[in-house]
Amino acid sequence: MHELSIAQSLLAIIEDEMTKHGKETLLTVKVRHGRLSAIVPEALETAFEVLTIDSRLAGAKLEMEETPVVLRCRACGREFTPEGDSAFAPCPGCGEELGHTVLSGRELYIEYLELE
Ligand SMILES: [Zn+2]
Repeated sequence: MHELSIAQSLLAIIEDEMTKHGKETLLTVKVRHGRLSAIVPEALETAFEVLTIDSRLAGAKLEMEETPVVLRCRACGREFTPEGDSAFAPCPGCGEELGHTVLSGRELYIEYLELE
């Protein structure tokens, strides 16, 4: 389960930001994750809870939003969202299956933090 290591990296970033801004409490953290990053929201939530228990981050609200996969066809340049969320899907324009550019869907980042 890679969510545990992801939660650890997110928490490191959050701690850094809190120190930088001199804040004591984390109210909300919003995470955006692409479908290709294969995050299971429930697993990330659980990991986040386990890791923050007994810390100053305990009780913070974790919000997650998934971003869809968008590919650009190597052959004809068409941008499309594949069915089945695979980076190896046939282009609806020309049928090309390989070598598409992933424009969106792999991202994993903190969109915002609400600190107090
Ligand atoms: Zn195409």
